[in-house]
Amino acid sequence: MSRREAIKTTAVALAALATGPVGYGATPNSSPDGPFKLMELPFAVDALEPYMDSQTVLVHHGKHHATYVANLNKAVANEQSLIGKSLEDLLRDLNSVPEKVRTAVRNHGGGVYNHNVFWLQLKKNPGGKPIGELAKAIESTFGSYDNFKDQLSKAAVGVFGSGWGWLTVDANKNLRIEATSNQDSPISQGRTPLLAIDVWEHAYYLKYQNRRADFVNALFDIINWDYVSEQYRKLL
Ligand code: MN
Repeated sequence: MSRREAIKTTAVALAALATGPVGYGATPNSSPDGPFKLMELPFAVDALEPYMDSQTVLVHHGKHHATYVANLNKAVANEQSLIGKSLEDLLRDLNSVPEKVRTAVRNHGGGVYNHNVFWLQLKKNPGGKPIGELAKAIESTFGSYDNFKDQLSKAAVGVFGSGWGWLTVDANKNLRIEATSNQDSPISQGRTPLLAIDVWEHAYYLKYQNRRADFVNALFDIINWDYVSEQYRKLL
């Protein structure tokens, strides 16, 4: 296998992790472990030091992300109509989710999905920038990488309370910067997330305390632009 093929295979496998039916196939919803699984981190817990500290990674993934998985599994446990649906299926069409569990699926399912996107895009990469088609699209949409970084940072830092800043791709394949509250996900609005910035305090408080802007700025040094750029290329 060539290096390019190996990279592609890895990217496809990671994409499946982020978006596919993670453990949600023929398994009945009543399986003791539940149909959804916590993804494994694609890096060592200390791999993002000093930008993101090990303790934050451990708690964020092992407690917060894991709790969203557990609560999503509880929400769908007795819903026969949801058997076999992927997390993407559920979030893309929340109206198809029975009303009595819809809010739980929106909150906890969004929590699972958003964090999957988040972890998969991270890798220590100081000064890294988008490549290929994504680099071109960012330049034509936002004028320059610096303008893009500035706009996305402002959107993320400006979230009131808990939420996310995003770079997404809309149905017309245009890039968009947006923000969501709580665990709402752009996928529920018909957009595909490319880059996720978690601005819940749990994402940064241990290291950055109240300095959300410093955390967001540091995050730009741990974005795996090769991976993110490849996700964009696959959408074209
Ligand atoms: Mn989080």
